[in-house]
Amino acid sequence: MGGALVDGERLWTRLTEMSAIGAQEGGGVTRRSFTDEERAAKDLVISYMEEARLSVYEDAVGNLFGRLEGSDPEALPVLVGSHVDSVVNGGNFDGPLGVLAGVEVLKTMRDLGQVSRHPIEVVAFTDEEGARFGLGMLGSRALAGTLTAEDLQRTDENGLSVAEAMREYGLDPGRFGEAARPAGSVRGYVEVHIEQGSVLENEGLSVGVASGLTGSVRLKFCLNGEARHAGTTPMSLRRDALAAAAEAMSLIESRAAETGTTVGTVGQLELKPGGINIIPGWVSFSLDLRDMDRERRDQVEASIIRGVEGICKKRKIKLGVKTLQRNDPVLCSELVQSAARRAYEELGLRPCYLPSGAGHDGMQLAALCPMGMILVRSQNGISHSPDEYTSKEDCADSARVLYHTVLDLADGA
Ligand SMILES: [Zn+2]
Repeated sequence: MGGALVDGERLWTRLTEMSAIGAQEGGGVTRRSFTDEERAAKDLVISYMEEARLSVYEDAVGNLFGRLEGSDPEALPVLVGSHVDSVVNGGNFDGPLGVLAGVEVLKTMRDLGQVSRHPIEVVAFTDEEGARFGLGMLGSRALAGTLTAEDLQRTDENGLSVAEAMREYGLDPGRFGEAARPAGSVRGYVEVHIEQGSVLENEGLSVGVASGLTGSVRLKFCLNGEARHAGTTPMSLRRDALAAAAEAMSLIESRAAETGTTVGTVGQLELKPGGINIIPGWVSFSLDLRDMDRERRDQVEASIIRGVEGICKKRKIKLGVKTLQRNDPVLCSELVQSAARRAYEELGLRPCYLPSGAGHDGMQLAALCPMGMILVRSQNGISHSPDEYTSKEDCADSARVLYHTVLDLADGA
């Protein structure tokens, strides 16, 4: 069958070629959105798409597509893909594997002269990581029609807005709405992505099917106490914002751990004035909270906020809590999961279902069409790091599963 003819060597060579773009000293890559590096990565993908004789086009926000026509001109397209932008000093597999595995599937079909009923499009989404403007999934939001003009006003560290960066990149930001596709206009979306966790490695499996994507709530806590002299203020008279924050973080860790499935992380911390002999009067810290179960996540969130309020009250600290982002968990569709299940059977692989702890473009596309993901074993679960690694064999396995999954979706009624 065709799946066996997917060329794992070619896929690996292309992943290696992609790794040279935006390569960093000491390993890893930096390809932020709307930069020369991201452009070069897309140009490389275009060359592979052209080799597979796909029709290549880019939409109003720079999402790149390579399309293989189907036999039925009325049939809705199946989308496969991922992204080629990266975080700062990220790994070589996060994103490119999904795009290049998609191109590999279509190249294999071309070489075998296979034509499915539905057209198939490989997509490299613009700015999935949000490493420059902090939003993320920009291209897939545009496709799903949920990107707003306000989102384009976000700025990078140099004060340059998304809209300005788009203009510099050769796009007209005023036309971003043209990238939107109406609900029901896509047959399905399937993405191959590294797991970025350790479940598959622990199971001894190369690939698994995502059951869903966990949704994150992101909060910012601001604690206002009093900055005073470290030598002359007795412990009983202090309103130490950092000591309160430390207690709050300890509470966050234990409340998240209690459920067994929730994960909570404080990844950012700022304090003022920051003197060795001054009691910190002001502290701000972030919280990223995730769970596949929205209700459970929201309960943990509420219990954390109540707990931190209690800590601050006791310490006479003024507290402010701001919600930065609230993404609900998304279940993968039965259509894509069952297509992937049949692909496993075809290949004689043991199926495994697991939630994805990371966010992906599929979260946005869930509003547009049936969506699913094929997750691939990550060595030691490491990602967003130059040490991110997935073996050549595992990459090839994922492309084989993708091949059968896509054909299942593209031939079906
Ligand atoms: Zn990714």
